[in-house]
Amino acid sequence: MSDNILSLIYTFSKKFIDPNTNLAFTPQNNNISAIVKDGNVNIFLQVKGQETSVYKDLLKLLKNNIEQIPGVVSVNIALTAEKDVKKPDKKFKIDAKNIIAVASGKGGVGKSTFSVNLSVALTSLGMKVGLLDADIYGPSIPRMMGVKKKPEMNNNKKLIPIESYGIKCMSIGFILDEEAPTIWRGPMVMKALEQMFNGVDWGYLDYLIIDLPPGTGDAQLTLAQSSKLTGSIIISTPQEVALTDARKGINMFKKVDVDILGIVENMSYFICDNCDEKHFIFSKDGGIKEAGKFNVPFLGSIPIDKRLRQQSDEGKPSCIDDPQSDMSKKYINIAKNLDKSLND
Ligand code: ADP
Repeated sequence: MSDNILSLIYTFSKKFIDPNTNLAFTPQNNNISAIVKDGNVNIFLQVKGQETSVYKDLLKLLKNNIEQIPGVVSVNIALTAEKDVKKPDKKFKIDAKNIIAVASGKGGVGKSTFSVNLSVALTSLGMKVGLLDADIYGPSIPRMMGVKKKPEMNNNKKLIPIESYGIKCMSIGFILDEEAPTIWRGPMVMKALEQMFNGVDWGYLDYLIIDLPPGTGDAQLTLAQSSKLTGSIIISTPQEVALTDARKGINMFKKVDVDILGIVENMSYFICDNCDEKHFIFSKDGGIKEAGKFNVPFLGSIPIDKRLRQQSDEGKPSCIDDPQSDMSKKYINIAKNLDKSLND
């Protein structure tokens, strides 16, 4: 439904010309973006300079047209000034001592599993932790944290994070239609992420852990530019094909002056039930060698483990389900070392 509305919005908008740039408002035009949620349409038009009166008639026409689309409940059109986009200040506000972005080059390497277990491990050390699922392509934190409800608003119109295992959880999935694949473009990612900070009643946190989407896209850049990131942790599997993409992530964070707090190697090896031997399925020591090359800390390696996968699917993180297990101790060790390195 939201996707239909979105494509109809662009069918109308492309008939209009931006009075400042003389470009039509097509989906390819970065000066227009639209978010549709439950029939409520929010449109952002990026305008040049301070002169907004030339947009007055255009806004009226656009609004009238979009209101006619079946299924549209409300239409809100906002003008955003270009200078905000070019020189973003740290405008994502949150009272957190540390903000850590968990990143990976590829999807499916265990970034969310790590984010969840790091959050639980830090909580077990007595920290106040928030977990923000910013993976716009496949938010999986609600499932992994066993969260089934959606957040409610408080009296100040801020979303109240859902607490699970003592961790305040928010997911970008909560503001998306579950089934609708949404086309994400720069300004939309920025707006949605801003809402995850400024529109959420986080309270004080020792740690905000952010589960990023894979790769090096708008979400990574927006967070680097608009929030006070303490640093990033890169998750990779040990084989070359994953490390190549992880390298791109490391280079991107370096370019935007975000510290790399370390590399974690996931799916390092598999211990066979029968022979009790370590099998290095995805090659050996790729993560530690990469950390050496980039001169960044190596935080640890996590083996392939069937129980870890099951616990994720069941919404019971390893460090909750079996805190004494070897697996949980690995996460707790990583959390301890990380906390120590940030407080030294
Ligand atoms: P990403 O966030 O990088 O896309 P996920 O954390 O969602 O990756 O993990 C992808 C899948 O692999 C999930 O089913 C998860 O349970 C599983 N998984 C992750 N790490 C491990 C591991 N060390 N051993 C076994 N399964 C794992």
